Amino acid sequence: MACGEIARSAPPRATTRLAPSPTGALHLGNARTFLVNWALAKQHGWRVLLRIEDLDTPRVKPGAIGQAVDILRWLGLGWDERVPLQSADMEPYRMAMRRLARQGVVYPCTLTRSQIAAAASAPNEGQHEQRFPPELRPGSFVFGEPAAFDREDVNWRLAVEPGTVEFADAFAGRQSHDVSASVGDFVVWTARGQPSYQLAVVVDDARQGVTEVVRGDDLLGSAARQIILYRLLGVGPEPRYTHIPLVRGEDGRRLAKRHGDTRLTHFRALGVPPERVIGLLASWCGVRAETAEEFARAFDLRTMPRDDVLYTKVHERWLIDGEQ
Ligand code: GLU
Repeated sequence: MACGEIARSAPPRATTRLAPSPTGALHLGNARTFLVNWALAKQHGWRVLLRIEDLDTPRVKPGAIGQAVDILRWLGLGWDERVPLQSADMEPYRMAMRRLARQGVVYPCTLTRSQIAAAASAPNEGQHEQRFPPELRPGSFVFGEPAAFDREDVNWRLAVEPGTVEFADAFAGRQSHDVSASVGDFVVWTARGQPSYQLAVVVDDARQGVTEVVRGDDLLGSAARQIILYRLLGVGPEPRYTHIPLVRGEDGRRLAKRHGDTRLTHFRALGVPPERVIGLLASWCGVRAETAEEFARAFDLRTMPRDDVLYTKVHERWLIDGEQ
């Protein structure tokens, strides 16, 4: 089989992954998502992989990998297996590209820098994404005509056909996304000689036997793109998705520097105990708990608040001083 090496080997059991990007230290928002992911794994007996997504090369910060591992442990989260860094073996991504090229659904494309940047990493909210319309495909591209993946130093885009992708999200509910109308032909391989986030995540989830993806709901639209890739690569079934609301600043924007230092390392350095951090994250999920284990016992996805969480100065004071 053409894509045999990346095909899913029958997983012994349901499997999820904690997939931090080592592009900066984990903040309270990432921590809440990881805590929920880990608790769901505990409740359902899923295997937990730790996968460091280090293919965002220009943005990877030195020391961030060790720090992410360390801070997840400090929170009381664990995993059954740590899988190699994405950058350790590029061959599975190349194989996926060769398969897409043989199907005549990808083409090389030269673009502006800003488009390349937007397409290369997980398009978290706030990062502008431009639609790439089919009219901009190169004249030499014929949909469905087998081609070769013969250059790694240019962007390659997937020719997205019109139509909606439907899936059921375990928290966000029924989804219907028209990828061709929203982002159009998205980048699957970047001029840096690496797969884009969208391709890397599908290849990794498939070969690592991931059946459960839990993450922030800014990636809901990405799930539709990933499902398209699963189907084209023939590595399905796609995982079950659980996209949960984000933690935002008081201004409603996603947590960032402007909201003060919300990194877990900052609170740990100030002497804030992990119990207090878990206490805050748990309250944002509608339960009381002081350890990850307690949280896993108390948490209920069905009653988790459906709104985004707003992180305020009151929360900050409570974390640092223990005051309301
Ligand atoms: N590494 C991605 C991020 O930190 C997560 C991607 C995913 O869970 O699919 O945004």
